[in-house]
Amino acid sequence: MCGTEQAAPCTCKCKCSAFVPDNGALKATANNGRLNLSPDSIINLDHGDPKMFESYWEKMGEKCTVVIPGWRSMSYFSDAGNQCWFLEPQLAESIRRLHVVVGNAVAEDRHVVVGNGSSQLFQAALYAVCSPGGPAPVNVVSAVPYYSCYPEVTDFLKSGLYQWGGDAHSYNGKDPYVEVVTSPNNPDGFIRESVVKQDQGGGHDVAGKLIHDLAYYWPHYTPITKPVDHDIMLFTFSKCTGHAGSRIGWALVKDKEVAKKMTKFIELNTIGVSKESQLRAAKIMEVIYQGYQNFGTPAKLENFFEYAQCLMAGRWNKLREVVKNSETFTLPQYPQEYCYFSRQSSQAHPAFAWLKCNKEEIEDCASFLRRHKILTRSGNRFGTDEKYTRISMVDREDVFNLFLKRLSAI
Ligand code: PMP
Repeated sequence: MCGTEQAAPCTCKCKCSAFVPDNGALKATANNGRLNLSPDSIINLDHGDPKMFESYWEKMGEKCTVVIPGWRSMSYFSDAGNQCWFLEPQLAESIRRLHVVVGNAVAEDRHVVVGNGSSQLFQAALYAVCSPGGPAPVNVVSAVPYYSCYPEVTDFLKSGLYQWGGDAHSYNGKDPYVEVVTSPNNPDGFIRESVVKQDQGGGHDVAGKLIHDLAYYWPHYTPITKPVDHDIMLFTFSKCTGHAGSRIGWALVKDKEVAKKMTKFIELNTIGVSKESQLRAAKIMEVIYQGYQNFGTPAKLENFFEYAQCLMAGRWNKLREVVKNSETFTLPQYPQEYCYFSRQSSQAHPAFAWLKCNKEEIEDCASFLRRHKILTRSGNRFGTDEKYTRISMVDREDVFNLFLKRLSAI
């Protein structure tokens, strides 16, 4: 069984409950920023705050502790000779090794740019591909349902370089554009490819640029079917290991000039990225990497990705069980695919549930759930129908279980 007591049978054939801390461990840290839930507490599943991995890292104990003496890492610079001069070499090395172990992206011979989360890198990438700019701002598009932050972030500063252009499906491809491809997609968890068809006629020299946001292309969320290799690929420590608070993201970039411009953006924006965060991220990635160094031995549940995969699969099984018994809701179905990382066939277990309300009389699914004290993010924030709402699947175990209980009661 994955997870806690009322778990539906887990299909991943593991014993991850052996690795989930017992209630004692949870109680012992109950005041460490954790909520004391009562049966009528409001459950906030609007944000994708990945707190479900805390228990794992707690069990890892001292292995992940980083001690930084007062005199260390004081300079603005990390690696003055490198294109990205504020990138800690240790972090660059850990990032490359992690991609090799997982096999999710080509990182060798790519420029690594570190950012304050992939949120900052998204803006750096927009700047890089849209500058020096033309007579009109470049349209930034993404297929509906798109990640709700893209429109807000794109238009926040009213840049003369770019502007939000809406749904990529309905974009004509006649004017220069940037398409953001989020794969697996937030909110619906599907694997995606670019959708804009460039208008070949009309004599336009149309420049379409792609930014791939791969925040969720990790084995716990989706089968790893190939190492992807795009011009600009954004990743984040937040969704990979759950350390959202460290604010570490990285971009793998093919073109040197693009990497240079992204670095310049971050230089002018925040003069680099915290070294303390980078060293912590490097250490944690190194601990994950070391877990996979005994080739030939069977995968161990103490290893992060196996543990996380099992936890996500367990949660999805439980949620599907509840939704199956309801006439009100449906969930997306994902194809069964071979994962080259885990060497078995599985379905996606996304970080968000994209829930659809089928009852005709309920037009706004998020408002309906809010009445049951469950906060979610409405479909209209993702450029689509209010019949849909997005629910975080990565909160703490007690919050998730209370959510299931409430949903079953509905
Ligand atoms: N891209 C996607 C698709 C996301 O879902 C998120 C976080 N919700 C981000 C980027 C931003 O992540 P970060 O914490 O690295 O800024």
